[in-house]
Amino acid sequence: MERELAYSIDIQSAYIQPALIEDSSGKKSPRGIQRFSWKHYALFAAMSLLVACDIKSDLKEPIVAAIPEVVEPTPVSLPLVALSINPYDYCPPITESSNVISKVLSGTPVPKEAVVRPVQTPQKNVDILKDEIDTFSVIAENIKSENPVSASKVKAMIMPIGYSPEEIKTNIPKLVRFLDWAYEDIAIEFPYLDISVPLSVDHVQQLASFTDKAKAEKLIRKINRMSPIDISVFVINTPQFLGTTYWGEEGKLSYALVSGQGASSKAATVHEIGHGLWLSDGYKDHSLAYQIPNEALFPNIESLPQYVKEAYLKQQPPIVATGGICSKYGENVPIFTFYNRDDDELNIMKAKTSSDKQIEITLKEGKKVFDPVQIAIMNQRAKELLAAR
Ligand SMILES: [Zn+2]
Repeated sequence: MERELAYSIDIQSAYIQPALIEDSSGKKSPRGIQRFSWKHYALFAAMSLLVACDIKSDLKEPIVAAIPEVVEPTPVSLPLVALSINPYDYCPPITESSNVISKVLSGTPVPKEAVVRPVQTPQKNVDILKDEIDTFSVIAENIKSENPVSASKVKAMIMPIGYSPEEIKTNIPKLVRFLDWAYEDIAIEFPYLDISVPLSVDHVQQLASFTDKAKAEKLIRKINRMSPIDISVFVINTPQFLGTTYWGEEGKLSYALVSGQGASSKAATVHEIGHGLWLSDGYKDHSLAYQIPNEALFPNIESLPQYVKEAYLKQQPPIVATGGICSKYGENVPIFTFYNRDDDELNIMKAKTSSDKQIEITLKEGKKVFDPVQIAIMNQRAKELLAAR
């Protein structure tokens, strides 16, 4: 049976708890980001034990450890004590006052709204998205590509929803070129359909879901029989900001729902496809079991897959505490990652939203929106997806 292993929430989740990032004057609050060397573990562990008795009060004043210049790549375990006193997550219990996204992700029933496409005539919002997959006709010629197709690359199939053929011609190739650019180091390409698929979408804020998931999966299988799909990316012609990824059993049938309009929709699509290649967010603010098997969030170095360890030892990126999560390792387990949440650093998987423009500038400067470890993870996942076909 297919089941959703996890939601990936979108990069605008930072907006849910803006006070954690900026205060009312716009001044940035302490982020609690800590970099440390392996030498300092004993010291940190001792510090942590001292504060562990009253973590809650420390949430307001995160302990910031000294930042050593060099991170030594000794592959020893990170401390499994409450080192990362971080105000962002920590697996909060769901209460009446929890934000709506946290409620949804914890399984609390929350009313959904239909995603509609606003049209000028008539002067009202019209739901033009319908679940009509049984009568939907799509042929191999509807699958287009901006580049010569490569057998050694995974396919993230872009499937428009709510676009006219003319709108697809105007919008989707631009999105594909943006994705090609952002993913130039990854063995992935982005074929797309030149017709919209008749699926309806609901949402709770930026969390999007198909009204009838079985129909969406039926469509993915139908197209997969004509042309291989490793990841499905449904781009919806709506200004409503949407960004959600679902993983099926063992990562199969993974699909993303994103909006196609808006100043950060292309960036959000890059972000969500990163989830499709098993990148995690550098943040979590909800009670959700975290189950991506080869993720970049980890409680200790030993828990990383071998190829991530190898990429880490080669690149030696700074290790950053992200806060605690609910996971198979337990509740409120401190979790680390290889990139930080700092707004100055443009990593597409961090919490704060980047605009399409910012991403374009970064790419034009020859910089990357993924770090080398993330690139290694995604290329490994691409290999696994190709092998699993
Ligand atoms: Zn995300």
